[in-house]
Amino acid sequence: MPRKTMLITGASSGIGAATARLAASDHDLALHFNANWDGIEEVAAECRAQGARVTTHRADLADPDCVPVLFEEFDAEHGRLDALVNNAGVVDEAARVADFTPDRVARMVAINLTSPMLVAGAAVRRMGEGGAIVNVSSAAAKHGSAGQYVDYAATKGGLEVFSKGLAQEVAAQGIRVNAVRPGIIATPIHGKGGQPDRVDRLGPTVPMGREGSAEEVARAILWLLSDHASYVTDTVLDVSGGR
Ligand code: NAP
Repeated sequence: MPRKTMLITGASSGIGAATARLAASDHDLALHFNANWDGIEEVAAECRAQGARVTTHRADLADPDCVPVLFEEFDAEHGRLDALVNNAGVVDEAARVADFTPDRVARMVAINLTSPMLVAGAAVRRMGEGGAIVNVSSAAAKHGSAGQYVDYAATKGGLEVFSKGLAQEVAAQGIRVNAVRPGIIATPIHGKGGQPDRVDRLGPTVPMGREGSAEEVARAILWLLSDHASYVTDTVLDVSGGR
């Protein structure tokens, strides 16, 4: 069987990097990143060592105009697109809604919602009559993240509604669209939001008594993308230890 081609946004770290590592044995990979050059080079090298053809693509998704440029690069390197992991995302420092600034909210919406919608649209155009997309949401979309980052939770809620609508729109053309909703997962994102101890603090409060790993989320993503999930579309899979 020919290797399928997968595009993963935010593949330089955390869940995106784990997904790339687990997909590399049977996929060619287009790995997107923004600032973490060392991270993407390390992930790309590990994937190449497993036999994958790997290209890397830098784009700052805070600027949605970068999306067409990202796909021009993709087109120059790859023939078709079979699978998209719409994963890149950010949190921000904990703040109450009353203290949000326009810049903070605009950045969050651009990276977590505007760009992922444009990325998914560009992916659909390249999938034609068959493919699979997983949008990476968050348990925050269920809980709201009061006092932490309600703006983040709102972008993830928006992404889930987008995921539903897109799934319905493209189901008849053989493209499946699903989302995962990770809970407390041990990745660098918490430190970037100014809470490096967040996983240690909240892990024990999860019904399963611990945080999740990036690999545990990656396995759920890869199952949804695989032919084992051939009759699964328009769903959101909680990967959150019961949280
Ligand atoms: P992470 O380790 O911080 O990885 C985030 C990825 O997003 C990195 O590859 C990063 O690229 C990329 N990114 C950040 N800002 C970007 C920008 N402006 N433009 C383009 N790419 C950008 O975090 P993670 O935990 O793996 O997060 C992956 C996804 O899971 C996110 O959508 C997040 O909301 C979601 N999630 C995570 C958790 C959790 O507990 N970890 C829970 C629920 C949902 P660079 O590093 O190269 O800049």
